[in-house]
Amino acid sequence: MAIKITDDCINCEACEPECPNNAIYAPEEAWKFSDGTTMEDDQEHEDGGFSDEFFYIATDKCTECKGFNDEPACEAVCPVDCCVPDEDNEETEDELLAKKDKLHA
Ligand code: SF4
Ligand code: SF4
Repeated sequence: MAIKITDDCINCEACEPECPNNAIYAPEEAWKFSDGTTMEDDQEHEDGGFSDEFFYIATDKCTECKGFNDEPACEAVCPVDCCVPDEDNEETEDELLAKKDKLHA
């Protein structure tokens, strides 16, 4: 499943550079598929995790780090443990790897 950021986030920015899919965005920043991927879709989105208060994870870009790391990189660096599994967005390992292949063709 994707990872989400809870409202315990202290906006420290530590997680943002660690994401291999560039799925982590600052508050109020719109996300794009093309950021940090090989996708050409540069439409701005304000859905799927968007937050105007805390750093957030664009659900459609989070692969739980499958194909890159053994564990979610954001979860590993977060000082307040607020990167947690998103129970509302469960995906199988195969689905997460397919998502990764779509982002990095
Ligand atoms: S789990 Fe990995 S892919 Fe998902 S947001 Fe965190 S660092 Fe990015
Ligand atoms: S590392 Fe944790 S506290 Fe810092 S911005 Fe990311 S989610 Fe928020």
